[in-house]
Amino acid sequence: MNLLDTITQLSHEFGTADFVKGGGGNTSAKTADTLWVKPSGTTLASLTPQTFVALDRAKLARLYDVAVPQDSHARETLVKDLMAAAVKPGSTGRPSVEAPLHDILAGVFVVHTHPALVNGLTCAKQGAAACARLFPDALWIPYIDPGFTLCMDVRRRLHGQKLVLLENHGIFVAGDTAEEIRATYRRVLTALRAEYAKAGIPTELTPGKIPAAPEPITPDHMVYTNHPKLGPVMAADSALTRQLAVAFGGIQLLDERSQKFIREWEVEAYRQKQVTT
Ligand SMILES: [Zn+2]
Repeated sequence: MNLLDTITQLSHEFGTADFVKGGGGNTSAKTADTLWVKPSGTTLASLTPQTFVALDRAKLARLYDVAVPQDSHARETLVKDLMAAAVKPGSTGRPSVEAPLHDILAGVFVVHTHPALVNGLTCAKQGAAACARLFPDALWIPYIDPGFTLCMDVRRRLHGQKLVLLENHGIFVAGDTAEEIRATYRRVLTALRAEYAKAGIPTELTPGKIPAAPEPITPDHMVYTNHPKLGPVMAADSALTRQLAVAFGGIQLLDERSQKFIREWEVEAYRQKQVTT
């Protein structure tokens, strides 16, 4: 199977509601000079080998050396333009804002998702300690604004880890084969299920506990707050995450400053407009 067929298959496997909601999550495949990544505003489940955006990795790498403006709006605009310039001729679509993060991870394939089972840990007060105990091979990234800032932070901390847990966000798994990706996800989910079982916490949402709107626990939960279809879906997901986080010291919401960044983020406004499912 070629790279694009394999990443399409992985995108469908990890594009179910257990792993992502709406346009959340993204996937990629790479060779030495090309990165194929999910376009922004599409869903994993809908991807075909043709929909991936092809990026020139040498051009993308300019991002890592450029002098970035302090102002977050100017910074994201510059990054967006550099990413657009890296899109290969013949390719259409806007690359996912997390494309550079895919680029820096070692592994032919990268599958990034936001499963409630994982966010029960990443959105918990003792998430970092639990991550170190359960997944010593993982890189834990304390919460930082998504987009370029996040990418550069991961780049600084990364030392070849193929499993990255992002606080109040989700999980990145890299692997050179589809089976390596699946095995890592299996290992993570099995360990977490065991923790929830030990704490006596059901992994399905206990009925009657869904808030009117999603709680601000991850960027995606904020992005889809007012979405007619996804708002209620995210509300249920935030309720399940709150339920699971009890296993690791209880839920931790995004702080006010982080929430403000998401509310003002142009990239997310674009994504909100694109996703209609
Ligand atoms: Zn994400």
